[in-house]
Amino acid sequence: MIDLRSDTVTRPSPSMLAAMTAAETGDDVWGDDPTVLKLQATLAERTGKEAGLFFPSGTQSNLAALMAHCARGDEYIVGQHAHTYKYEGGGAAVLGSIQPQPIENAADGSLPLEKIAAAIKPIDNHFARSKLLALENTIGGKVLPASYVVEATKLARDRGLSAHLDGARVFNAAVASDKPVSALCAPFDSVSICFSKGLGAPVGSVLVGSKALIDVASRWRKVLGGGMRQSGVLAAACLHALDHHVDGLAQDHDNAARLADGLKQIDQIKVLSHATNMVFVEIPQAQCAPLEASLKERGILTQMLYASRFVTHRDVSREDIDTFVRAVKDFFAR
Ligand SMILES: *Cc1c(COP(=O)(O)O)cnc(C)c1O
Repeated sequence: MIDLRSDTVTRPSPSMLAAMTAAETGDDVWGDDPTVLKLQATLAERTGKEAGLFFPSGTQSNLAALMAHCARGDEYIVGQHAHTYKYEGGGAAVLGSIQPQPIENAADGSLPLEKIAAAIKPIDNHFARSKLLALENTIGGKVLPASYVVEATKLARDRGLSAHLDGARVFNAAVASDKPVSALCAPFDSVSICFSKGLGAPVGSVLVGSKALIDVASRWRKVLGGGMRQSGVLAAACLHALDHHVDGLAQDHDNAARLADGLKQIDQIKVLSHATNMVFVEIPQAQCAPLEASLKERGILTQMLYASRFVTHRDVSREDIDTFVRAVKDFFAR
């Protein structure tokens, strides 16, 4: 099967499974799983933060971060298309009593500075208390401009807000911009990083930040049901990914560019954008379901919508990209 639906579909490789089998474990709720401690310390060091905390999912890592930054009745400023706002079930509001203040994202994924400034509330009993700016990098595959990130987080800080990065794919951003991941994390107080996307681990995210913030997030993780026991078996997969899978993201990015180039040769498809490991296209509505079915018959999994997204990852090869493009061409040539 060639699965282009998401980079979450990667399977653990035999060497990753071997690392998991060999992991030394303890009870992480008691703080004595050495492999989890190693992962947390390694990520803290790689990102230039004081401490790290291992979570079962990015959703929970983001939520615990929001709850560590904001109390009941506080608000966070966030993009209309941000994962934390749009794709996490409204958790900040539902479980955190945190009011989101969404702002329309610009085409490059950024939140315009003047809109951030206008959204920050004065201190007044009428208003929720603006406490946090949350950005996402990459967002829709796009790398946020580094100068923009510096300006936006400075604006937040000047107005007394903290800054959180949903860095689910921050390693993709680092590889694409040829910068150390610590440089991309430096402007933020906290960063949530997914290992179950392009990095290819089966499960896991790590939140990094100051020791004080991570202590608070650790309590919320327990409250949210994220206290795990011999989670070293999972942390071992993440450590393996850090050691062996980061450089491979460049190949995923090349494959996405190749996929975009291939689809551009097909008249019926409009390639809207491609960046890092994602390609966005428009396909005539009437062709979506038949095309998806036709590809599935040839062992290619996609999610075909009017505005579709194809995602490359370590379980998709350059040859697979060519097979996919050929199958789409064949479909429209019929
Ligand atoms: C996948 C993702 C998350 C959440 O991760 P899960 O592990 O699926 O909960 C958060 N933010 C972004 C940008 C993501 O792509």
